[in-house]
Amino acid sequence: MKKIAILGSTGSIGTQTLEVVRENGDIEVTAAAAGNNIALLEEQIREFHIPLAAVWSEEKAAELKSRVKDLDVRIVSGMDGLLEVAAAKESEILVTAIVGMIGIRPTIEAIKAGKDIALANKETLVTAGHLIMPLAKEYGVSILPVDSEHSAIFQSLQGGQREALHKILLTASGGPFRGKKREELTKIQVEDALKHPNWEMGRKITIDSSTMINKGLEVIEAKWLFDVSVDQVQVVVQPQSIIHSMVEYEDGAVIAQLGTPDMKLPIQYALYYPERRYLPGDRLDFETLTQITFEKPDMDTFYGLKLAYEAGRTGGSLPTVLNAANEKAVALFLARKIGYLQIPELIEECMRRHRVIEKPTVEQILETEAEVYAYIDGKKQIRGDHN
Ligand code: NDP
Repeated sequence: MKKIAILGSTGSIGTQTLEVVRENGDIEVTAAAAGNNIALLEEQIREFHIPLAAVWSEEKAAELKSRVKDLDVRIVSGMDGLLEVAAAKESEILVTAIVGMIGIRPTIEAIKAGKDIALANKETLVTAGHLIMPLAKEYGVSILPVDSEHSAIFQSLQGGQREALHKILLTASGGPFRGKKREELTKIQVEDALKHPNWEMGRKITIDSSTMINKGLEVIEAKWLFDVSVDQVQVVVQPQSIIHSMVEYEDGAVIAQLGTPDMKLPIQYALYYPERRYLPGDRLDFETLTQITFEKPDMDTFYGLKLAYEAGRTGGSLPTVLNAANEKAVALFLARKIGYLQIPELIEECMRRHRVIEKPTVEQILETEAEVYAYIDGKKQIRGDHN
């Protein structure tokens, strides 16, 4: 039996991870952590016999404890709870399916405890890649990508020599507003931005896909995962989301991974790597598939992507500023407190104000995050109602 722990078991990636566990029947879930959804976490504890569970708030943890008092399960809370789940004694792999920079400390804890990381929580690599990757090397653990594009790159790299990698072709659907110009985006509402053409995902990443900031975060994630410069990562818009990404080797050969959009494939691949297993679901049908098209990304309209390249190129604490300003701005947009175009505007403003720390420690990363949050909170013009 393979043994895994999951941070964010109640979210989009977390629940799909548990579907993979259910369908395969030979993985044991040794620990799980969630934020608020204790009803679903309780169901998961019961179905998968999870012996250790963490809930963020103490109050909710106490409520869950009383709901599962008939079971042999330990309930923990707060950051200590996340750290305990991350380093759960029996587990071999930690699936980081939590959202945001809160994933940094648990990921570090898991690496130090010798766990491989099935990494969905891209914010951790974007902001702390310079700490995570060397640490993983030091402890001899693997960082296995769950993000579909990075899994595709990882799969495409299996066939060739890593030293002969010339560049990464990171595909993007272009999101629901592909083809639109900046002026046409002024009136975008939350509901419009939550409609992704091809993928069903959590709310934050769906908004990030619509602004293409998700792609920008992925460029920086690729830099760390595959040890390349951000300028070796080229974003290619491929609206049908059939090619999940590609790599180009020195001799010009391009190797790609294709498939239907289903996150269970990269999740399963990360959990069983290097083994490939049967996965139920739709297959690509080349009798009905008539075209795969490509476009250049419009970095003027979606200039969050341009900002991400800049942050990735500069490095240090700038990607943290990009990520924190984006997290805060997206939360404000979802709460209808700012307009859609204010998301990249706020990111740019925060990036311009910041004095870069070259190799930030975890504490400095978290301080930078807090400073960005406080700066955005302190701004008067974002308090108006944009409905
Ligand atoms: P969701 O919002 O669907 O899920 C987030 C999960 O994190 C939930 O289980 C939530 O718990 C939990 N969580 C949030 N805050 C805390 C906290 N303080 N303590 C413990 N648990 C917490 O997000 P996604 O699954 O969409 O995304 C997760 C990560 O994976 C992100 O980094 C995203 O960028 C990345 N990713 C997602 C993809 C997707 O297809 N969804 C694709 C590729 C990457 P609760 O719901 O109980 O509050």
